[in-house]
Amino acid sequence: MRVKKRSKHRKAVKFYATCFGFREPYKVLIDGTFVHHLLTQRLLPADEALRDLLSASRTPALFTSKCILAELRRLGKSHAESFDAAQLLTTTKCEHDKVVGAVNCVQSLIGDKNPEHFFVATQDPGLRENLREIPGVPVIYGLKNSLCIERPSMQQRKFAQLDEEKRLNMDISEYKKLLKAASEGKTIASENGSGEEQHEMPISSLVKNALHVTDKTKFKRNKAKGPNPLSCKKKKPKLPTAIQKQAGTADGEAKRKRVRKRKRGQKDNKQLEAAN
Ligand SMILES: [Zn+2]
Repeated sequence: MRVKKRSKHRKAVKFYATCFGFREPYKVLIDGTFVHHLLTQRLLPADEALRDLLSASRTPALFTSKCILAELRRLGKSHAESFDAAQLLTTTKCEHDKVVGAVNCVQSLIGDKNPEHFFVATQDPGLRENLREIPGVPVIYGLKNSLCIERPSMQQRKFAQLDEEKRLNMDISEYKKLLKAASEGKTIASENGSGEEQHEMPISSLVKNALHVTDKTKFKRNKAKGPNPLSCKKKKPKLPTAIQKQAGTADGEAKRKRVRKRKRGQKDNKQLEAAN
């Protein structure tokens, strides 16, 4: 794995560890499409490949569910090898007495808040898209013979910025309302103005108002007041013009002479000395 890619993945894992409390050993919920990808690309052993991806010190625990297994079995011969491999994973308990589609099962396991702190590994673009809307769900997918973690989505990053206590107690409908407000534009009209007083409010303050979060700056960055003094050439002290001329003849001329000497040769140099 290239260094740049690895640091990107590390950053994503760190985001979920810091903002959503993911801890080692990590749990990875794997669906049939991902098992199939691992096998066809020979990314084996899978737990080692995932450990490497997550830069984890402990081997992550890999999970599947009975609905995922059932879907793989339904796919028949073409996915027989994937089905056999998936059977070796730990089966996490889902709420379905009668099996449902793998996508629905994964989504119900994740729920609104991903309480089990699963990383979800899938090749299903639709499922990936749905998971981006839920806070605290890191998504793993394969790109040919390498594995990637999706960068935390805008919604997830926004959610992480909210006050911790508030977001733990917020229900999903409230969260979705905020996301909708955020995605509708950079500014939004406030609801309380009954026709006459419609203020334009930035989203951040709307979110804060809705959550009754007080405005406090945690980190204050010092703004640069000028160019970086370390990257600038030192200023020469300004001398009065008369002295500058003298200094010029002593210092600068000597330098210039050396250059000219090389260019023009001895003959010109003698002329210059005479002129001086
Ligand atoms: Zn299920």
